[in-house]
Amino acid sequence: MKSAVVLGLVLLAPQVALAGARVDATGALIRDEHSCGTTTEPYPVAVSSFVAPPPAATPTVRTVFLNGKGGTYNITSGATNAATNTASTIASGNGRTHMGAVIPPVEASFNWPYVVACVKKHYEPYNIVITETEPTSGSYIEAVVGGNGSSTGWSTGSGILGVAAADNFCGVTEKGIAFTFSTNHLGISKPNDELCATIAHEIGHLLALEHEVAAVDTMSYVPFASSMKKSFTNENAACGTTPSAPRSCSCPTTGTGQVTSSGVKLTQFLGLRPMEKVAPELSIMSPDDKATVRPAFTVTATASDDTAMAQVLVLLDGVERGTSVAPEGTTYTIVLDSVAEGPHVLEVQAIDLAGNVTTQKRDITVAFGALGETCSANRDCKGNMCAVTGEDSFCTQTCGDGMGCPDDFACADAGGQQVCVPSEGGGCSAAGSSPGAGGLLGLLAVVMISFRRRRAAAR
Ligand SMILES: [Zn+2]
Repeated sequence: MKSAVVLGLVLLAPQVALAGARVDATGALIRDEHSCGTTTEPYPVAVSSFVAPPPAATPTVRTVFLNGKGGTYNITSGATNAATNTASTIASGNGRTHMGAVIPPVEASFNWPYVVACVKKHYEPYNIVITETEPTSGSYIEAVVGGNGSSTGWSTGSGILGVAAADNFCGVTEKGIAFTFSTNHLGISKPNDELCATIAHEIGHLLALEHEVAAVDTMSYVPFASSMKKSFTNENAACGTTPSAPRSCSCPTTGTGQVTSSGVKLTQFLGLRPMEKVAPELSIMSPDDKATVRPAFTVTATASDDTAMAQVLVLLDGVERGTSVAPEGTTYTIVLDSVAEGPHVLEVQAIDLAGNVTTQKRDITVAFGALGETCSANRDCKGNMCAVTGEDSFCTQTCGDGMGCPDDFACADAGGQQVCVPSEGGGCSAAGSSPGAGGLLGLLAVVMISFRRRRAAAR
């Protein structure tokens, strides 16, 4: 039985918990027909050869969200959509649906920055952005890395290394999800290089690449530990997983032979990354320098490039916190949330497709809103309560039952809840007590809504 072999090999590599990695007597990874769950069957509709898309006037920049932090995914009978963490049953280990499948973060024993740089290196020649921050808009591909596949139906002894929810190799699966099971890369030689190779391989499936036999090509099953080199090569090779196992192609690169080429296909489907040295133009619209902002705030910047923009990145104290690849015109909007109180250095980077970077910095201070200060959501306020009257929104707090309000504030009823409201302003034209009836009515309705939202969010 294969399981007995695997158990014996566990003892050869005692430093780790193996959860299905298949290794040879030297501890080197075995990639075989079980290693990649992506189907190698011919495309169900007869396709004699793929047709490269016509060159676009302005190149489409595709985005890959490289996710080492894990998450919850649904494997359903519907279509794959990276934005909703939904994958088709093509990615299922047993063909069944799996709701709420948890993928844990990649193990700390991997050199994740090295792996990320290695994956980026694979795709460096091509017109594609790889980011570790999930885009909040636009179409993108996701590569999630973590776990052993058990939550999505793969048996723990399967040695499954990865699977891509790609339904054909004749086109790009635009919102596809590629799963790489990092746990099954533990305890092997060259684990970081093998993990990188699997991630790049599974992303490749989403970018129309099928298995090819060339040992040094990332789309073959020959381990990095054997070839000592992995990349997308421009030579034609037979389809199949190893040099000794050629097979017919699902979507061959030419109509005349059963061959494929990962590098040629990527060049034709993605386009080559531009080569130029002119940095993009960048202007931060908000926040201003020295501004005080709430823990959730929006960065707005305009950026443009003479060739093509890739993305606008936002870093806080040197740590990447957000990105946008989908501007409106030249305006990029990035929302930051749950930023710690205190002073921060905000850095905005405009990066063009050739990799040229323009950077601007702002010194900002993050502070919760005190009573009466402006807010846009409950979480902006010290007391987690934001009220709105007409155009104005302000942080408030409860009162009544013996609790008063500070000077310049009055305790007012808002649908059964007593809250402090500014006792001046409010635009009341009616004579009498402050706040005016108009302001109070507005407050009442909106505070009730925000309370309801708060309760709903707590569930
Ligand atoms: Zn594969």
